[in-house]
Amino acid sequence: MTATQNATASIERADHGDRSAPAAPSGHDVVVRGARKRYGAVEALAGIDLEIEAGRFMVLLGPSGSGKSTLLRGIAGIERFDAGSIRFGRATISEGHKSVPAERRNLAMVFQDYALWPHMTVLQNVGYALRRRHLPAGVARSRVLETLERVGLDSKADSYPHELSGGQQQRVALARALVGRPALLLFDEPLSNLDADLRERLRVEISTLTRESGATALYITHDQAEAFAIADEIGVLRAGKLEQRGTPEEIFGHPASPFVARFTGLAGSFSGIAIGDRDGYWAVRVGDHELRCKAATGVNAATFVDLLIRPTATSLEFADARYRGVSRLANDAVDLIPATVVDVAYRGRGYDHVVECVYGRLTSVFDVSAWARGTSCLLRLDPDGCLAFPNSATIS
Ligand code: ADP
Repeated sequence: MTATQNATASIERADHGDRSAPAAPSGHDVVVRGARKRYGAVEALAGIDLEIEAGRFMVLLGPSGSGKSTLLRGIAGIERFDAGSIRFGRATISEGHKSVPAERRNLAMVFQDYALWPHMTVLQNVGYALRRRHLPAGVARSRVLETLERVGLDSKADSYPHELSGGQQQRVALARALVGRPALLLFDEPLSNLDADLRERLRVEISTLTRESGATALYITHDQAEAFAIADEIGVLRAGKLEQRGTPEEIFGHPASPFVARFTGLAGSFSGIAIGDRDGYWAVRVGDHELRCKAATGVNAATFVDLLIRPTATSLEFADARYRGVSRLANDAVDLIPATVVDVAYRGRGYDHVVECVYGRLTSVFDVSAWARGTSCLLRLDPDGCLAFPNSATIS
């Protein structure tokens, strides 16, 4: 038995004392306070507070090793925190020596490697999650079939996992998680093993079926695009700490730190010196240019800054556009920087460019048309996607 099968088995030993699950279940809030976990010299969780509102879809985003799995597994009851508490609704689930076992936490988990029983059919795998509910056989069977239908696999009820594709296997795992109508659904990088198009389709299914179920959801991933696409709220983890928490729009528009900005996607960065207010933005001197941007706390006049640039803030214009009357806006020259196209990559709906200017190189500069390598152009920067942080080298 693999570790994840073991974990699934322990969660699925669920007997919630609820033999006729409610027709319209809904999740409860989840509150974690002061979660700490150490593995030898490694501090996997360095004191985390996390609240998830009932019925919300929360994604924990962070690089490998940032503590996502440890936090998820602690909430699942597969691991114990060294310190801290967990509350589900009004119930204390873990605090001090008290710890409600995984199977009594009324939750289900979907794993990266599916963790299906190879010797059981699809029907049996999903039905296994109901075995302690003591439902009449016919009721259990129809509930399993109905759940399989919702994930589009009713025709595969008698197949074995090895007869299914990866995407189908993960759908079985999703059905198995949903069939017991748990109050909390946990997802451990469930799309990581799937091809790109399948990932997208299954992401939509996870998103819609989880929200339909009314359960509270906690989902971990290192993929920022996946996190932005599926989350009501994102918590960004770094080295065992929660660096920022907010809606996808808040995290993207107002990253709390250069780490969060970098981890959620940058075209690149320039170095500069903050000057002062301009047009409701901050002006930053970068070489010969004064670029407008949004500034983080700690940026004052004369502060050395890193100007972090979102890909969405970049666009390309013809080098002589101003002279040809293509664009004659006020402040026209302010956020335009001469640049050269270094590389171009076809992305289906358009092209991503790498451009080089005197202040550095920017990647993921999008245009619906391709700009040939070597073309001289003007790089336009939208101040809403340029974020100034005090330069890390100048912070004591
Ligand atoms: P993530 O899920 O973000 O990749 P993890 O929670 O798996 O991060 O791990 C956080 C840190 O704890 C990492 O440095 C990892 O190597 C360490 N770690 C996790 N589980 C164990 C374990 N069972 N034994 C030793 N170290 C562990």
